[in-house]
Amino acid sequence: MTVLRGRNFLQTPGPTNVPGRILNAMHRPAVEFSGPDFVELSRSCFEDLKPLFRTSDEMFIYAANGHGAWETALVNTLSPGDRILVPHTGNFSAAWQRMAESHGLVAVEVPNDWQHAIEADAVEEVLRADQAHEIKAVLLVHTDTATSITADVPAVRRAIDAAGHPALLMVDTIASLLTVDFRMDDWGVDVAVGAGQKGLMMPPGLSFTAVSAKGLAAAEKAKLPRAYWNWGDRLEKQNYRWFCGTAPEHLIFGLREAIDMVNEEGMDAVFARHARLAGAVHRAVEVWGQAGALSFNAAVPEQRATSVTTIHVADGIDIEALHVLLREKFNVALGYGLGTLQGRAFRIGHMGDLNEPMILGTLASVEAGLAACGIPHEPHGTSAAIAWLAEQAQR
Ligand SMILES: *Cc1c(COP(=O)(O)O)cnc(C)c1O
Repeated sequence: MTVLRGRNFLQTPGPTNVPGRILNAMHRPAVEFSGPDFVELSRSCFEDLKPLFRTSDEMFIYAANGHGAWETALVNTLSPGDRILVPHTGNFSAAWQRMAESHGLVAVEVPNDWQHAIEADAVEEVLRADQAHEIKAVLLVHTDTATSITADVPAVRRAIDAAGHPALLMVDTIASLLTVDFRMDDWGVDVAVGAGQKGLMMPPGLSFTAVSAKGLAAAEKAKLPRAYWNWGDRLEKQNYRWFCGTAPEHLIFGLREAIDMVNEEGMDAVFARHARLAGAVHRAVEVWGQAGALSFNAAVPEQRATSVTTIHVADGIDIEALHVLLREKFNVALGYGLGTLQGRAFRIGHMGDLNEPMILGTLASVEAGLAACGIPHEPHGTSAAIAWLAEQAQR
């Protein structure tokens, strides 16, 4: 086996780089989970996660990945046979929909080409037609990691209101949280789903839901079976219930450090850094694409995510060869194309604990990989990224 020195560049759109500070915070013995110190530490995490979602609503933390939090949103608020509205944002709306259907929920779909953000007008039209209010929830993915497109959440809120429809608005922020502004309360979101291993820089294993008063009221009437995920139990006073059993202590130690790191940098600075680094990736892809073999999945520049970029490759190009070369020769990991984009695209993740030299190293490695694999591309994409970052640094 080849020995690779230096740092691995983990440019997948999750998990992302885990900073040494977070790893170190977790490197300690287990503690008594009912002791006052740990109870206070967990309480502080429930409280201090709220500002990251810009909410004062109820917060739940699960020892689960994002799929777990998806499931909690469904089983706590809905009943068998309920209709849900699913605007197609990409592979992640499709996966959340399949999970809903496996619980006996009935999806009403708003189709989309995966290259554009969903149209709020189309959502409004479907809701207006639902005179009997059979649709109980709208399931919206904020940034779909497969398409690298960010949806306009406030526009969907306005569409629901314009239709005078009472459906809950549930938003998956897993790939957008701490990469772009998300305002749960201002935007009228009822259930926000998040996870730790993307913008929040955590090792995988924690996920969250923030739930509005309307979402909690729906939970009182909802009939889908639930035990481990039950919000009602998790709201009990006894801290053993908060995690429905033993607290994932080490992940909570890490979470505390992650929240502190975000607050030290400041959320606005975090968003600005993501926009800057995404800009560098976009400049490079624009140039590479001029040779005709590579192109953005997201057709509209303003809709491109700050957390991940999906790049189409022309028919006949063996994209696996690029992944293997980057992994084995350069120690760089990229994301694969997902769903209908499998084998037809690759993805560069650019979220979490990341700075300019890391993004430039990634782009230069990808450019070298494209050359080594004989994938047609206009050279000097990395130079365009350098010029962009130089310009940004003068601000
Ligand atoms: C990563 C991701 C998920 C799934 O999260 P897991 O932790 O892998 O279960 C869901 N939605 C979006 C938008 C994601 O990026």
